[in-house]
Parts: sequence; structure tokens; C-alpha cells
Amino acid sequence: MKEVSLVVDMNGCPNRCKHCWLGHMPNRKMEENCDEFIVDYFKPYFEKVTYYSWLREPDYCSNYKERWEKDCLLSINSKPMRFELASFYILVRDENYIKFLKEVNVDTVQLTFFGLEEKTDGYVGRKNAYNELIQATNLLIENGIKPRWQVFINEENKNEVVQLLDVIKEMNLYERCSGFKFFVHEGSCDGENRKLYPIRIQKENIPSELIPYYLDYDQLFEEKECIGLLNEETVNYDIEDHVVLNISNTYDVYFNYTHMSKPWVIGNMKEIDAEEMMRRIVEKDTFALNVAKTVTYKQLALQYGDSTSTKVFGLDDYKTYLFNCYLDDISK
Ligand code: SF4
Repeated sequence: MKEVSLVVDMNGCPNRCKHCWLGHMPNRKMEENCDEFIVDYFKPYFEKVTYYSWLREPDYCSNYKERWEKDCLLSINSKPMRFELASFYILVRDENYIKFLKEVNVDTVQLTFFGLEEKTDGYVGRKNAYNELIQATNLLIENGIKPRWQVFINEENKNEVVQLLDVIKEMNLYERCSGFKFFVHEGSCDGENRKLYPIRIQKENIPSELIPYYLDYDQLFEEKECIGLLNEETVNYDIEDHVVLNISNTYDVYFNYTHMSKPWVIGNMKEIDAEEMMRRIVEKDTFALNVAKTVTYKQLALQYGDSTSTKVFGLDDYKTYLFNCYLDDISK
């Protein structure tokens, strides 16, 4: 392995989204010098180290500018990326933040909706979230940054997702910003979103108006189709030359495959030394990955799949959904 990205939950997140793939974790501000400890711990083993001080909401701290500069400084032979993300919580509360986003060349910011006001507030877990998203959209456009609206759809909110098309019209978003984008998808089925399995959207219920905006619609399978595509292959997660490690605010280290639950922990940085952590990473010697070698997707589908279901999935998301059902069962 040549390269590592260390993605650290230093400041938490103001939201509690019902679709959060990472899973909900308590916010805890980590110690100021934890960043140096974390980089020093891993740097002997990699040529390139990229440090990110956020794992959930980017820039969710009062000193976001200094924090970004420190992330750049700590990275070795590398520079952190900005991605197309920002904190809409900070954006509507701190007038300097938009200037910062421009300084670091942010071109597009993705904002996540779940329907109209009541649904979006309920799904984000914070009153006024919808109004803040609308305010953030206007602020971004006025400052030359493109908003991209992402919407998670399920059986409960599907009609409201259609109504968002009217909101887009009323706000003249395509006319005001030539790069404005709107897309809809069902989300993966891990973390909090797995709890929404009972209301996962069924293919025949996707409103036809939304199909042109549906992400990878052609690669969408009904659950019963996914089951037909599974074979005797054992559950497998590859480790690339560039490994991405998610680090919780209590120093638990995870691969970034799926949610951050107990069966997926590689180890805790305060409890084991770096050599042992690296051995577990290289040899894929963790509870979840050892269990993975013992089961096939076909077995899991027989146990947890519903061969009559038309709920939609990407095939890899469905495989992970099945494996997490099994991990939960055997970890009880
Ligand atoms: S999805 Fe993102 S913004 Fe929502 S709770 Fe999870 S980390 Fe926070």
C-alpha cells in the first residue's frame, strides 16, 4: 500500500440524517493535537498521507480556515481534496464562509433534500433545515458557486420529491445558474438508511417525472433481480493501493466500505500499536472481513433476501445490505 487517506471525525456533524450511511455517532470534539498523533502513527507505512479533519459535515467548526490549512500542512506528498461539499449549517450562519469556499476554489456544492419543509426537517433531524438549504442555494448562486440538489427518495416521500421540481421552477434555478443540477436516488442500504428498508422505493412506484433525473437508472435492480444475480462467490472486500481509513472521535479505525459499527472496527489507536494496526489492515484480519470469507452471497440471499420484492438497489449496495444483516445477527 502506497497511499493512505486519514478521514477523522474531529468535530462531528450538526445533522442526524435518516439516510446517513456512516451511522449516527455522538458528537465529540477531539483533542487539538490528535491530528499530529494520527499522522505520526500511520506515516512510517505510506509514501503519501492525506489528512482530513472531517468525516461527517466538512468545515463544521469555527476555525474552518485554519483547520483546512492545517490539514494541507499535515498531509505528506499530497493535498486534501475539497470535493463538492460544504457545511450548509455554517454557510447560513457565517458570512465569511462563502468567501472561504471561493478562496479554495469550490465550484459546486451538493445540498441534500428529502422533500418539502416538514419532510426535509424531519429527515435531517433539525428544524429549519429546509429553509437553510433554500437560503444556501441562493447564497451559492449569488456568489458564483453552483448548487447541486441531491434527493433521497423512498415510498414515504416520493410525491414530495416530484414537488421539488415545482420549487426549482419557482426559484428559476436553471435560468439563474447554468450549472445547476438536480438528481434523485435511493441511497445505499447501510448505516441509518438500512432502517428505512421497509419504505425503500419500489421500482414501479418511481414517479415517471423523476426518471430523467434518477441517478444510474439503467443500473437499478429490483431486489428479486439482485437475488437472481448472486452466485456462490464468498463475500469480498478488496484493499486498494490507496487505502482510505475512517477514524471515529474515540480513535476507532475502519475501512470506508460501509457503516462504522462494531463488527467493522479494525482496531483502536489508543489500544494497539501501529504495527499491529497495519498487520490487521494488510492481512484483512478484522472480525467482519474474517466472517466474510465464510459465507457466500447466495447463502445470505436465502437467509435475508425477499425474492418477491421490487425494492430498488445497486447490486453492490444490495450485497452489503445482506452482509450487514448477517453481521448484526451473529454479533447480537
Ligand atoms: S449524512 Fe452527512 S450531514 Fe447527514 S448526519 Fe450523516 S454525516 Fe451528517
